Amino acid sequence: MKAEFKYQCDYCHGRFKSETRFMKHHCKEMKRDEEFRSLEGQAAHLFYKSWMKYKHHTTTTHPHAFRHSRYFTVFLKFVDFVGRSHLPDTEAFIKLMVKHKIEPNLWTDDRAYGKYLEWVTRVMATEKLIEITVKTMFDIADVAHVGVKDILDNITPNELIQLLHQRRISPWILLNSKKFADFFRDKTTSEERVIMESIINPEYWMKRFKSHPDDLKLAKDCVTALEL
Ligand SMILES: [Zn+2]
Repeated sequence: MKAEFKYQCDYCHGRFKSETRFMKHHCKEMKRDEEFRSLEGQAAHLFYKSWMKYKHHTTTTHPHAFRHSRYFTVFLKFVDFVGRSHLPDTEAFIKLMVKHKIEPNLWTDDRAYGKYLEWVTRVMATEKLIEITVKTMFDIADVAHVGVKDILDNITPNELIQLLHQRRISPWILLNSKKFADFFRDKTTSEERVIMESIINPEYWMKRFKSHPDDLKLAKDCVTALEL
């Protein structure tokens, strides 16, 4: 009986005589498969499915085809971007990109991100903005092992600037909070105040509060409940 080439790679179909060499074998196809089955790969596939749904109105996608398409790498890059920017609502982001005809390979660019941030500020529903804010605040409280009412004692101006920029904390809550007013007055430098004001744009929010009294009431009730 011939002993040669007993072992074959399921991915690239390469053949091997020695078990040791076969076990050491790690080809591009195999790596791609591992990447696909990783948490990031599965997230990439889910985002790709959402995109296919909004863009091509189809819910049938083939994992195998996706894994071997150029979109696999593109969507893996997007997964990384979602994590780094703590994108609060990925579905909304994908829908917006489809609406503006921005292709997935451009989603991680500043221009696409800027469009999304602007959309979150001006279009996203108040309930959703408040929901995102509350979630963020509970996350901060968890990490700091304090109650939500004390998070402003456990956060630096820079961290808050970051959260405002990422739209994870909304002016709906912040500008109606007495504790934030104190924080802003007592715990920030004049530079930090300038940066916060440029991100928040208080004039815009004052107008929006005025023109949306029901939303304002909801926000204020929420601030009261959170003891902020
Ligand atoms: Zn192989």
